[in-house]
Amino acid sequence: MPVKHRIRNSVTREQKQRGLIQGKAPHREHNAHKVLRKWPYYRGVLIWISALALLFLSVAVFSFGVWQKDKQAIYAGIALFGAWVFMKLMFFFASKATTCPLCRANHFANSRSSKHKKAFKVFPFSYSSTAVITAALKRCVRCMHCGVTFDLTKKYRK
Ligand SMILES: [Zn+2]
Repeated sequence: MPVKHRIRNSVTREQKQRGLIQGKAPHREHNAHKVLRKWPYYRGVLIWISALALLFLSVAVFSFGVWQKDKQAIYAGIALFGAWVFMKLMFFFASKATTCPLCRANHFANSRSSKHKKAFKVFPFSYSSTAVITAALKRCVRCMHCGVTFDLTKKYRK
C-alpha cells in the first residue's frame, strides 16, 4: 500500500471517531513549525477576547435597559454594540498580519476556501475562532488551509 494512501485513511478514521470536533488539535511538539512573528497572533487574540467581552456587555446592558425600561441603558447597549462592530473590524485588520509562512493564507481569518483535512474546528465555533481559542489556551495554531501546526512560543528549530 502506498504511504500517502495510508496517511489519508488514518485521518478520515479519526474524524469519524470525534463528532463535534473536526480535524486534529494543534500541538507544541518538536515537529511543530514556528511562526515568523508571534506578536500579531497575541494582538489578534487580545482584540478577539475584548470583542467577545464587548458583545456580552452590550447584550447585558441592552436587556437590562429593556427590563428596567431605562432608555439610557438601551442607548448604552447600542453604543457598546457599535464598539463591538468596531473591534471586529480591528480584528479583521489584525488578522491580516497572521499570515501562514507556508501557504500565505491568514490563520485567524475565515474564507470560503476548502479546508484541509486536519483543519481543527470545535462545534459552535468557526475555523478562525477555534484557531484564536487554541492560540489563547495552548499557544499553538493549526493552519486551516495547509493543516500544519505552528508553535507560537518556538524560537529555534530543534
Ligand atoms: Zn498554511
